[in-house]
Amino acid sequence: MKVSFVYKRDLESIKLKEQLIETLTYEIDEENPDIVFTIGGDGTVLDAIRKYKHILEDVLFVTIHTGNLGFYTEFLPNQLDDVFELLSKNNPSVKTYPLIAFSYDGEEEIALNELTLSDQHRVFNAEVYVDDLFLMHVRGNGVCVASPTGSTAYNKSLGGAVMDSDMNALQMTVIAPFQTAKSRMISPLVFSKHRTITIKPQTRYLDITFDRMIISKENVKEVTINLSDKRVRFLSNDTLKFANRIFEKFIGEI
Ligand code: NAD
Repeated sequence: MKVSFVYKRDLESIKLKEQLIETLTYEIDEENPDIVFTIGGDGTVLDAIRKYKHILEDVLFVTIHTGNLGFYTEFLPNQLDDVFELLSKNNPSVKTYPLIAFSYDGEEEIALNELTLSDQHRVFNAEVYVDDLFLMHVRGNGVCVASPTGSTAYNKSLGGAVMDSDMNALQMTVIAPFQTAKSRMISPLVFSKHRTITIKPQTRYLDITFDRMIISKENVKEVTINLSDKRVRFLSNDTLKFANRIFEKFIGEI
């Protein structure tokens, strides 16, 4: 078994990584690991997904949380014995989450949380098509298309609904919609995994963010977005359910 580590550069995460290296008998292979330990928060998990995007379906992510409570982190530092026990099993329980696949200018990319399209120079203008059928014209700061697990991140701040992480769907929200009687929009919208969303920017400049990444482009004709068949695989802490995460992160003690 080959392992690698993606970790936050803080003292707790660095110490935990050293502790894991001392305890584990596995070979370290940065290029082609079977298991990737992430030590940090959700941002560290997003970095790890990006780093291993070419072998995502072959890798098992073991996500240990040292930052603020996360949505992709399954274990706490004091649960390492549980992690080792699970890994010693032939078929440990695995949670899988879908990715967003999108393409522009012949480039293909993936995102776990969301992608956003905007134009930092001016008001963002675009046409939205669903399965090649015109849906609406959008005007505002941009659009955000989130996965079910990404629905609790930026999507939620935009007034989007929290989706059950077992769903297979995409949610689109318009960021700061600029509505008038002549340009009406509907947002948020949830699409089935069978839909293809095509966004045709009407402006010259386009900023695309996906998870922690940002790129700026010019004259992009269209961005095509689907829920990918590819899924990310996490070693599962079966005591941690969807409702626990929502309660602890957003409701808290009552
Ligand atoms: P960051 O360090 O600025 O932290 C953003 C916060 O979002 C962290 O607390 C993180 O734990 C949390 N987060 C990340 N994914 C989440 C998820 N799926 N569900 C619930 N919370 C989640 O940024 P980061 O750690 O690099 O995370 C990048 C994410 O930040 C982006 O994917 C986007 O969703 C989010 N974001 C949010 C806003 C906003 O809410 N206004 C704006 C920009 C980006």
